[in-house]
Amino acid sequence: MFFQFFPRRVSQSIVLIHQPNNQGIPQRTDILIHNNFITLISPNIQPPLDITEIIDCSNLIISPGLIDTHRHLWQTQLKGRHSDDLLGDYVTKGYLAGSFYEEGDARIGESVGAMESMDAGTTMVVDHLHGVYTESHVDAAFEGLATSGMRAVFCPCPTKRVKRWLLELIFEEEEVPGWFMGMLEEIAGRRPMGHGRAEIGLAFDSFGIPTGEAERIFAKARETFDAEPTSPALPQQNSKWVSANQSASIKTLLMSLPSALTATPHPHPVIDQARLALQYTRGRMNKHSLDNESSISMKNKTVDAFNLVTIKGARAVGLEDKIGSIAVGKLADLVFWDMNSPGMLAAAEQDPVAAIVHHSSLRDVRGVIIDGVWRKRDGKLLPVSLPGAGMMAWEDVAKELLKSRRAIEGRIAKVHAGLR
Ligand SMILES: [Zn+2]
Repeated sequence: MFFQFFPRRVSQSIVLIHQPNNQGIPQRTDILIHNNFITLISPNIQPPLDITEIIDCSNLIISPGLIDTHRHLWQTQLKGRHSDDLLGDYVTKGYLAGSFYEEGDARIGESVGAMESMDAGTTMVVDHLHGVYTESHVDAAFEGLATSGMRAVFCPCPTKRVKRWLLELIFEEEEVPGWFMGMLEEIAGRRPMGHGRAEIGLAFDSFGIPTGEAERIFAKARETFDAEPTSPALPQQNSKWVSANQSASIKTLLMSLPSALTATPHPHPVIDQARLALQYTRGRMNKHSLDNESSISMKNKTVDAFNLVTIKGARAVGLEDKIGSIAVGKLADLVFWDMNSPGMLAAAEQDPVAAIVHHSSLRDVRGVIIDGVWRKRDGKLLPVSLPGAGMMAWEDVAKELLKSRRAIEGRIAKVHAGLR
């Protein structure tokens, strides 16, 4: 893809520029992208070189890439299995389902989960990988994510591992396997990864282990991530994550914003979750004022929901200076939204932020650029590189995922038969 090394000018579109007060102000302007950075924002940019690619965006809104601060990409194959589960049901059937995964399942789950996210305008994801059964599973999952094109913090999580599925569950004795920290260290040693887009973090669900052991893990994570050189694309991010939040895991836990409303593998798109969170919060406020016979005012604004998945999401992951808004010097992570679709028409002209938060659907995401590279264009996901398989179009990737899904179902069915 030669064009990624050349300047591109995105011409005369409605661009959502965050102001210091976090309001997203629509401006009609051009944007110049060079390599993976936004280098100029101005109403009439002259193409700096003959080879500058000019992208006509006259009927598009350009927003910052959306940031999903809590996701389990490995569980893509489990979608649809938990739609009526309570959290307790999900924990047994879904959280522990890593027991039924082979390495290849982890790899394709991550790849396709990342593609699903990109399709919906997500350009950065904190990937909480709690399907950690063996080092090879982690390795394969990381491979799937790093080659997908997604910007990500990959956070393996020590997980209770099922030893045997009996009527009473038998777990492995070690909740944090002996190899876990060495594995984190090894992956951290591979940086920069995914051309600098992918970073390593730590997720943590083991709240039952002794405090001393948890502290040892956090200390080791700090040491591991701080000791390594940072990637050229995202300087200093590791030390910031760890020191700002005391531990890499807290970073993950703090950010369980809208998608934590459900006990299933977190649904998508993230903009839908922001919309849901806004309406849920408004409903609670409304109930509170009815219960107290007090007057109501609209405190939770549409732009707040938009900011949760853009600038505030970036702040939550310690990357506010790199992503989360459209500004000169920031990385080129952009989403192109259709202004004239039946859903967006009129709203997009009146208030582009309201159009995205309240009126958009997935089909309005016409294009996605991550780190200066097109990942979706003209409404279609572009091929991704799958480890060991080369570049693959969505149709072929989808077949691979379904194969994996059916194999997992087969393994689950065998256990059910054995329990009867
Ligand atoms: Zn979760």
